[in-house]
Amino acid sequence: MPPSPADVSSGFRRAYLDYAQLTAQLETWARTYPDLVRVRSLAKTPEGRDVWLAVIGPEPDRVRPAVWVDGNLHAAELAGSSCALAIAEDALRLHVEPHTLDLPTPLIERLREVLFYVVPRISPDGAEAVLTTGRTVRSVPRDERVERGRPRWLVGDIDGDGLALAMRVQDPGGELVEAPELPGLLVERTLEDEGPFYKLYPEGTIEHFDGKTIPSPFFLGDNPIDLNRNFPWSWAPSHEQAGAGAFPASEPEARGIVEFATKHPEIFAWLDFHTFGGVLIRPLGHAPDAKMNQEDLAVFRQVEAWMTEHTGYPTVSGYEEFLYEPDKPLRGDLTDYAYNQRGAIAYVIELWDLFKRLGMERPPKFAQLYERVTRKDLVKLAWWDRDENARRAFPAWRPFEHPQLGRVEIGGVDPRIGIWNPPPHELPALCATQAEVFLRVAALAPRLRIGRIKREPLPGTLTRVEIEVINDGYLGSYGLPSAKALDFNEPVYATAQAERCELVDPGRAHQVLGHLDGWGHGLHTGQNLPAYPGTRGTTHAAWATYLVRGQGVLDLRVGSCRAGFVTARISL
Ligand SMILES: [Zn+2]
Repeated sequence: MPPSPADVSSGFRRAYLDYAQLTAQLETWARTYPDLVRVRSLAKTPEGRDVWLAVIGPEPDRVRPAVWVDGNLHAAELAGSSCALAIAEDALRLHVEPHTLDLPTPLIERLREVLFYVVPRISPDGAEAVLTTGRTVRSVPRDERVERGRPRWLVGDIDGDGLALAMRVQDPGGELVEAPELPGLLVERTLEDEGPFYKLYPEGTIEHFDGKTIPSPFFLGDNPIDLNRNFPWSWAPSHEQAGAGAFPASEPEARGIVEFATKHPEIFAWLDFHTFGGVLIRPLGHAPDAKMNQEDLAVFRQVEAWMTEHTGYPTVSGYEEFLYEPDKPLRGDLTDYAYNQRGAIAYVIELWDLFKRLGMERPPKFAQLYERVTRKDLVKLAWWDRDENARRAFPAWRPFEHPQLGRVEIGGVDPRIGIWNPPPHELPALCATQAEVFLRVAALAPRLRIGRIKREPLPGTLTRVEIEVINDGYLGSYGLPSAKALDFNEPVYATAQAERCELVDPGRAHQVLGHLDGWGHGLHTGQNLPAYPGTRGTTHAAWATYLVRGQGVLDLRVGSCRAGFVTARISL
């Protein structure tokens, strides 16, 4: 009996793992469950770390429907790693101890046939920089730009405590002031405030400083890449899309993912974990729902229903509610790539519902929450930080003599835990509820199987063999309906090989059967109203027919690169 996954857990459901701990967890799984877990590297980062992919499920090389989960593409968004690992662990439990999962039997049976691809940390260099130094990194802590002439902030530890946090400088023109309710907490200045006022900078130094002019900090200032703008679908260069990188998939982390996904058209669902908001963001990212494939939209409504039931998170369209600038869709993001180019049920989860905790009302468009945090909300946040987050987000300021700016104060704001990520005690529930939803999404898989086999003896030594091929999964053999249009999404075909007998027409050994519908159709499609009773006909099944001369065996392989393959050995 293999041990329970709980016995070999490194504790990722309650803590944020560093690279060594995360690697050790994956290696432990691969060692403990060699038939169920395979770990491989998708890419080597410039700092020499691996972007790990864990493949969970028996016979990982047998092509069959698969799902993808990733997290921590944004360096500070560590909770995504924990939730991705939790889903990997639950996928493991499907095979090791299925009775411990709170899932109905038909779901467990279905899920045991699905392969899970889990990439818990897309940006190991970025996450490590954030974990060990606290410095701001959007995705990756590197800057390979050639242009070096403009003065800018270089973030780093300058007071020698190992951390690179925030720096404040008193300035009569400062935009911020201390909240009277909570000394140390900087809030937006109003006309009524008396001061002192502050400017806020990252801890660090200024490159090309002229001794007078301080450049404005920019979140991509010394780490220009946002991996979530580096993917090939609808990519645009960085003068149009900040963070884009030099060209699509220019970064090894993105490149490794794109190369793997290209070789794995069987991925029909794709979950990308981020950590800030408490919301599910689904396609489309570039156009309103009215322009979306309505059958796809119905499937996403099913995902939405599960998300509401299990997590309470709202579901929004990227375009309708998550554009940071109106009418300016994000370019090159990962789930746009996964949905539009790989045909997956792709969505983002922003894990930490901080706004809801602060009691903020949901504005007409979800993304407006990020803009609408008021001075009062911030004070509430700081109280919460003191009472429930061990003062992690707003540590004290400490005076320091800065080599360029003179007297400053360092510390003050550390958004890693409390703002970007939930405190560790909130993690277990997030891991559990997200896994509950995603396992249901994974159970939407198409499933091909061989149905009836008819043998009809004909005059001479001929036999007509008819083989029924059925898809009894939720989704069609094509996955999402819109994915039918993708070039790689070939129809189901059958290939027969005769052993000790022969095909009358060898040219019919290979037969294209076409796509097979599933039984599912999403939600709110009117199927429940029996005004005009009726369903689809047998659009989920097809027959392959062979004329065989002699007695022997017909070896049959049926499927597609998307739906996977099933085989049969038919004796004649
Ligand atoms: Zn993010």
